[in-house]
Amino acid sequence: MKFNKVLENIENYEAGKPIELVVREFGISPKKVIKLASNENPFGAPKAAQKTIKKLAKCGNLYPDDSYFELKNALSKRFGVSDKNIIIGAGSDQIIEFLFHAKLNANSAVLVAKTTFAMYEIYARHVGAEVIKCQSKFHNLDEFLEIYKANRDKIGIIALCVPNNPLGESLKRDEILRFLREIDDDTIVLLDAAYNEFAAFKDEKTALYPKDLISEFKNLIYAGTFSKLYGLGGMRVGYGIADTQIISQLSKIRPPFNITNLSLAAAISALKDEKFVKKSLKNNLKQMTRFEEFAQEMGINFIPSYTNFITFEFDERFNATEICDSLMKRGIILRNLRSYGLNAIRITIGKPKQNLRVLANLREILGAK
Ligand SMILES: *Cc1c(COP(=O)(O)O)cnc(C)c1O
Repeated sequence: MKFNKVLENIENYEAGKPIELVVREFGISPKKVIKLASNENPFGAPKAAQKTIKKLAKCGNLYPDDSYFELKNALSKRFGVSDKNIIIGAGSDQIIEFLFHAKLNANSAVLVAKTTFAMYEIYARHVGAEVIKCQSKFHNLDEFLEIYKANRDKIGIIALCVPNNPLGESLKRDEILRFLREIDDDTIVLLDAAYNEFAAFKDEKTALYPKDLISEFKNLIYAGTFSKLYGLGGMRVGYGIADTQIISQLSKIRPPFNITNLSLAAAISALKDEKFVKKSLKNNLKQMTRFEEFAQEMGINFIPSYTNFITFEFDERFNATEICDSLMKRGIILRNLRSYGLNAIRITIGKPKQNLRVLANLREILGAK
């Protein structure tokens, strides 16, 4: 059977392994499984959001308010922008999809870092666009600019992941601003801010402020999500903030009712729960040091992280796939970065007890080498 040829160049996105798989394959009770593979919030969904979801269960027959009025209103207050500058997606993933479909085609290209969020490449390939990758290990804006200048005519989107998944490094706001001033009006810069709250908490210089950004740059879109810090990965809510010209074009691609009424209400509740957010940020920063100290002690290279995960890179002594497999048999799911071509693992920072168990098991497995 013939399908759209662009699909021939697309590899399936490899998601973090689910708890259900470990339960099925190794007969471990779901309560004993620790999943620190997809950068979800280890504290679960915020309590207020859980309550809202329960209360709304009977409204499953109704479509949500497709204008997403209340959520946009809450976000517009939070960020100091107009609701007309906001679009809601089923995760910020969907915002990225809208953007790439709206802007790119078979004659254009996206410029991305060497090792970054895999979905940029996949969405670009949907529309037959070229994917140009930098060579530098981490986001390097000098290199981005050099490649951009040499390919100005075809680069429709530049994707910056601030901070970056799966490595964890972060660009600083000032260097991003300088970079943006060099970019033509017709090239859109995506600032993927899925983890920006974590970065901002660690180092204010990495904080991005959508209001200032979109008032200076009409060719920029800020993508945020409720999946990480806000504990709602399973609810699928994200948002894009940009000039109205971008928002109105993306809105043509958005399917009606693209998030559920449960997701909508949960996101609104989560935004109000500042205590949950503070607790999550503090736990993350504090627990991160446990992993750094462990890596130092074991002589493992780690990448200083501005996110809610840490990436360990192994030399020839260790094999990331073997390590992940051994951990999985012990009921611990981490993210193998082999699909990114790295001998590395990415560990989401969990609750203190989870982290202790992960590190004790890692110590055993690595020590047995
Ligand atoms: C998790 C993540 C997203 C968005 O996830 P959604 O669940 O779709 O909101 C976007 N970009 C990066 C880099 C991510 O890690």
